[in-house]
Amino acid sequence: MIKILVVDDEPHMRLLVSAMLESPEHELLTAENGNAALTILRREQIDLVITDLVMPEKNGIDLILEIRQLAPNAKIVAMSGGGGLNGRFDYLPLATLIGAGNILRKPFKREELCAAISTIAG
Ligand SMILES: [Mg+2]
Repeated sequence: MIKILVVDDEPHMRLLVSAMLESPEHELLTAENGNAALTILRREQIDLVITDLVMPEKNGIDLILEIRQLAPNAKIVAMSGGGGLNGRFDYLPLATLIGAGNILRKPFKREELCAAISTIAG
C-alpha cells in the first residue's frame, strides 16, 4: 500500500489526479495548499506527494522545501501549468532543483502520471 498525498488548489485537479491513481494499492489523501498538506504530513507517513506549484497560502516550492525537512523519505512529483503567478515564470525546473523527483506539465494523461511515479518509486 502506497500512501499518496495530492496537493492542488483547484478542486477539479485534486479529483482528476485522484481518479487517475485510484487503485487497491493506493491510499489517496488530498490537500488544497501547502499548509493543509503539511498538517497531513505531520500526522501521517506519506510515501508520495504530488503537488501543484502555484497555490495560495503556501505554494508548492515552499512545500517541497519543508517536506525535505519534515519527511525526507517522501517522494515528490511537482505538477504545473508552466506559467507562474504572473504567467511568465516556469517553476518546474526549480522544483527539480530543490527536491522533486519528477515533474509533470499540465495537462497530462494518466499514463504520463503513472510513468512519472514509477520512475521514482523504485
Ligand atoms: Mg494552482
